[in-house]
Amino acid sequence: MPEQSVFEPSLVFAQKLDQEDPLKEMRAQFAIPQTENNEPVIYFCGNSLGCMPLKAREYVQEELDQWQHEGVEGHFKGKHPWVNYHELFSEPLARLVCAKPSEVVAMNTLTVNLHLLMMSFYRPEGKRTKVLVEADAFPSDLYAVDSHVNLRGYDAAANVVKLAPRPGEFALRTDDILQTIEDLGDSLALVMLGGVNYYTGQVFEMKKITRAAKTAGAMVGWDLAHAIGNVPLYLNEWGVDFAVWCSYKYLNGGPGAVAGCFIHENHSSYTHTPRLAGWWGNEKTTRFQMADTFTPIPTAEGWQMSNPPILALAPLRASLELFETAGILPLRRKSERLTGFARTLLAELEAEGAFQIITPAQPAASGCQLSLLTGSNGKNLFKYLESHGVICDWREPNVIRIAPVPLYNTFEEVWRFAVLLREGWHRVR
Ligand SMILES: *Cc1c(COP(=O)(O)O)cnc(C)c1O
Repeated sequence: MPEQSVFEPSLVFAQKLDQEDPLKEMRAQFAIPQTENNEPVIYFCGNSLGCMPLKAREYVQEELDQWQHEGVEGHFKGKHPWVNYHELFSEPLARLVCAKPSEVVAMNTLTVNLHLLMMSFYRPEGKRTKVLVEADAFPSDLYAVDSHVNLRGYDAAANVVKLAPRPGEFALRTDDILQTIEDLGDSLALVMLGGVNYYTGQVFEMKKITRAAKTAGAMVGWDLAHAIGNVPLYLNEWGVDFAVWCSYKYLNGGPGAVAGCFIHENHSSYTHTPRLAGWWGNEKTTRFQMADTFTPIPTAEGWQMSNPPILALAPLRASLELFETAGILPLRRKSERLTGFARTLLAELEAEGAFQIITPAQPAASGCQLSLLTGSNGKNLFKYLESHGVICDWREPNVIRIAPVPLYNTFEEVWRFAVLLREGWHRVR
């Protein structure tokens, strides 16, 4: 961690970092929620629901206008005909995950996409029936995986293998994951992990894990809910079979925004890959001929089922434009500095026993998020922050998660947060 040592713990230094920040103009493109006194809150919750890009309103309005003026003709007329609307997202999403535009599609919501892609890529056969997951995965993922295993007639308790950290540790060790994959060998059908764990903020070594899973002959799927828009991803090059994500966290697509997924071209170009079919996945040239047999589009779009919810897609356009302007690598660079600065400022308080940071300390193993494991007065500390204009989040039983996001958070906010945390700690201890 080269830069952490050079951070000075002072407000003046924080302001200097903000002045020198090459991405400082981005914040003005977002609506930052305000306190009752009309001051912007310290919004450290972009890992849960990203702030609204100001242009989101205009883009939703455009589609309402289109509906008002064109009615059904809006599918084929206007600036962005609805029949092709989802295609606007392929290139920017592909750039965020380093894939080919034909390998990504914006559709549905995350858990739905996970189900659809497990239909395609969980193919238990003979000995090969097991799925490897994190014991501390987001619950929806565990429910989805268990239900697939059960639906295919296998016992989830015996076939869903859960990776847990070693006793007394919070993060999973890559070596342990690789060893488990090797041990499972030809009983392993699918490795289905989160790219970034939602609770600890740990970034997994996706490249190494993907390679190990492929070597074992298994399929690999990543849930990138907390990874996309947070850390650089190289899905095509890594040889990932599929990935899913939601768009309301770091992607700022709005509540319940249309999610996305990646399907490697080896599978998407092969039209016999098993799947659940719907008319929007059918070849575009023949879709409206209403034929009675399904001919899939030979790209990720071939997994679409329904015509997409245009009003729920529109805000994502605004956000992806900002990602295009900023670039994921400069964002990552700033993110490392923001969390590095936060770590420097929180180190003393951590040493005093106010909390333990359970997010791994190596910069490569953490993204925007820091998870603070608090003691018995943690909830009061969280309430103190809340009542002093900080929006972060509380995870049972006792973790405060903060996410300084490089698109709209500042070094000065990190400084002010650290001051409030210290005040709060003295108040509640
Ligand atoms: C946020 C999140 C979800 C949420 O799923 P939805 O289907 O969008 O409600 C699922 N999995 C992970 C890992 C998440 O972080």
